[in-house]
Amino acid sequence: MAPGRPLPEVISDILAFQGAVLEKTADECLEFLSPPSLSAILGIPEHGKMSFTYQSSYDEVISAGYDSDLFRAMANVFSGKSRLAMAAYSSPSLNIEKISGSVAEKIVLTNATFRPQKVETRAVNYLLGFFQYTALSDEKREGLIPLLASELNLATCAPGEHIMEIMEGLQEAVPDQKPKPEITKVFQAACSAVSTVVGEELSPFIKSLDKRLNRDIKRVFEYYETIKIETQKAIEKRALSGEQSMEKQREKVNAIEIEKRWKIQDLISKYALNIRIEPVAAIVIETQSPVFWLEIKRRLSSRPFPLTYNPLLRKLDPLPCESCFYPRGGYSICDDKLHIICSACFKKCPQCGKLFCSACHKHGCPRCSKGSGK
Ligand SMILES: [Zn+2]
Ligand SMILES: [Zn+2]
Ligand SMILES: [Zn+2]
Repeated sequence: MAPGRPLPEVISDILAFQGAVLEKTADECLEFLSPPSLSAILGIPEHGKMSFTYQSSYDEVISAGYDSDLFRAMANVFSGKSRLAMAAYSSPSLNIEKISGSVAEKIVLTNATFRPQKVETRAVNYLLGFFQYTALSDEKREGLIPLLASELNLATCAPGEHIMEIMEGLQEAVPDQKPKPEITKVFQAACSAVSTVVGEELSPFIKSLDKRLNRDIKRVFEYYETIKIETQKAIEKRALSGEQSMEKQREKVNAIEIEKRWKIQDLISKYALNIRIEPVAAIVIETQSPVFWLEIKRRLSSRPFPLTYNPLLRKLDPLPCESCFYPRGGYSICDDKLHIICSACFKKCPQCGKLFCSACHKHGCPRCSKGSGK
């Protein structure tokens, strides 16, 4: 499932959500009819065409690419008092009993057990964030990633192609609703998760970058080594006929070696990768969701945890990883605070070889790095 979506689709979703009417035209543009208030925020006329390709010579058409004024103005749509739009989503009717039955098979903990407690249906808010990423190296890659995070337990997931259905199902929130202060935590979890999603999305690009860097370094290395050998040979010949001093000869070879290192350094900077991720828009979505309270037990301690059913994606939310918020591999429970930690974050210290919880110790192994976070 690719979490990234084409820019035109996401922009039309956001604009449609703000009351605009949009239609794709034959020349790959988007014809729009925008409410006056939205036009004012975006600095566009109430009726016109926008294009996502770089054909700016075309005066009538408004450019909506990543580098455009319109794209930058999109952030204003969600700015103002809170920078967050509020929306509601009416949950489907659910067979709670059937979902309850699947909890046990969905949740697997490597070093702990859990017991289902009560089930309650209650208000649960989700944050839907849209993040733009730009990866810059000798080439450029960019994209937009939507990400959902549950306010109750900070579980995150990339809705991928389901984003369309979610956007279509959004309704106006109760007027004057404002996001709660806790939403900051949810937003941070989403930001942490999205950095991993972007890493996954870019992994073929990063692999190809490494491959090209290694190939070019090998070429430069071989080129200069050949020159060095040839120079050496020429020097030896001349030395035999007494033309050049040994000192001069050594200088020549050294100069070649230095130039080789510079060239390699140049290549490393040429292929250096700079990734920037920025939140473009975010919507707080109010839903009603069944919450399955679990009692997580590790040794003599236990902790209640609310597992949420995601009405937007119509499936149980995954457990969160309380360190990276984008769990990979299995789940473990830490000894001290009973954090839920994914296997990528329940790390073996490279120095002492002991496992430690990255949520308890953000700055590395508590035994090896003094003054680490608690
Ligand atoms: Zn993790
Ligand atoms: Zn250690
Ligand atoms: Zn912990």
